[in-house]
Order: sequence, then structure tokens, then C-alpha cells
Amino acid sequence: MFDKLRVYAVKHSNFVRARMGKIRYVVIHCSTGTPEKQMETLERLGLSVHFIIGADGKLFEVAPLEKVAYHAGMSSWFDSPGQSLNEESVGIEIESADLGQTSESFSKASMTRLYKVLEYLTYQYKIRPENIVGHSDIAPTRKPDPGAGFNWKKLYRHGYGVWYKSVVLSPERDEKKLLAMVGYNVDDLVAARCAFCRRFLPEEVAVVSDISALVNQPYPKDFDVFDKERYFLRLRAVARAFDEVRQKKYWDAIE
Ligand SMILES: [Zn+2]
Repeated sequence: MFDKLRVYAVKHSNFVRARMGKIRYVVIHCSTGTPEKQMETLERLGLSVHFIIGADGKLFEVAPLEKVAYHAGMSSWFDSPGQSLNEESVGIEIESADLGQTSESFSKASMTRLYKVLEYLTYQYKIRPENIVGHSDIAPTRKPDPGAGFNWKKLYRHGYGVWYKSVVLSPERDEKKLLAMVGYNVDDLVAARCAFCRRFLPEEVAVVSDISALVNQPYPKDFDVFDKERYFLRLRAVARAFDEVRQKKYWDAIE
């Protein structure tokens, strides 16, 4: 049915706990530095993640899937429960030297490995497409990763996540409501708008070469779009796509 995960190395973090909930989400991250370096950094910060994919495509297992890893922090997505997605999610870090700023940010080898990992997780845990998210989707005020360079359209073409049809629009016109329909927490509208554009309208998001500045301030406080008409059309198309996906039943045949 699927290729087994081909893990290159297993080095489990000390920072995990028993998982009480079901796995429902996959959170995609990116970090600079090799997997070995990332593991050191996470351990130093008391954080963890399930997998790290190196630029060469090698897969490192840092936490067993049956344990909760500390990768999402304060976060939410649509109707997610509680303060964080950690309990119900799998976290995957991908190595990216410039923190996902451009279309060149992710190596082909790392993306090929990511598709394999998603194939396994989707089948094994019956992950719904709308619940494959980026860190900045679920924590728009705090996190810029995996960045505007991460290719969600290509991910969709490989069978994962949600994409839109330009001509099928939500009748809703209110920006906040539309962003919330997609899944964003809209307490900070500017942050949610920026996170949306990173994923669905990356042309609107400026490349930031100073990575530490980006980490300290994941979105411009005065972020706005240049082309408002295009933004609203895209937002209505994406909101409609998520709405439709959420109404669909998945996995009936194998349950
Ligand atoms: Zn992250």
C-alpha cells in the first residue's frame, strides 16, 4: 500500500511525553542547519519534533509517533481543541538554509522524502487534507516557517493538503470570516493575512534575507497586499475549497 518510512537515523529526544489524543494533524516546519545541528538546538531549548529531513533527503526520527513532541507551541487551526496542536499532531522539520524564503529553498531530495513521509502518515493515521498545515498557518503571530518558498501547490499535486480552483468562490465577502473559514486564528488580522499570503499568494510576501529579524518578527506589522482584488478572489477561492473539503468524508472504505 505504501513504502515503509526509510529512517536514516533514530536519535530520540528527551523532551517528549505520552500521547493521550489521536493524531489528526501534520505540521510542516523548516529550520536552518543540518539535522544534527537542529537536534542539538531543539534539545538545548527543551523542544522536540518527530522527524527532521535533511537537504540531502535523509530522514531522522527524533520522537516516536506515539509520543507528543514539543514543536507547535501555542497554536490553533479551525476547530482544533486546546491551546496547542502538539497533542494531536506530528511535526516535521525540513532543512532550509534561508528559512523557506524562495522557491529554491527546499531541495528536491528533501521534498521527495517529505512526500514519502506524508504518504505513510496519511494512510496510517487517516489524516484529512485540511489538517496538513504549516507552522505559520497555526501560529501566524509567532512563526514564519515553512515560508513563502514552500510549494503547497506541488504538495497538493502529490496528493497532500488543500488547493483551490480559481473560478469557484465562497459567497462570503468578509475578510476575517473568510480567513477563519480556511482555519486561521484571526485575533491578529494582519498576521493571519500574511500567513495566508505565504501559503496561497506568495507573490505578496517580501523575501527577508535577515533570518534572525524574520524569526523575531515573523510578519511585517503593517503587512498589506498590493493587489487587493486578486487577494480577495484568492481568499474566497481558498475558503471555498477548505469548506468543501471539510464537508467530505474520507477513509470510509478502509474504516
Ligand atoms: Zn516551526
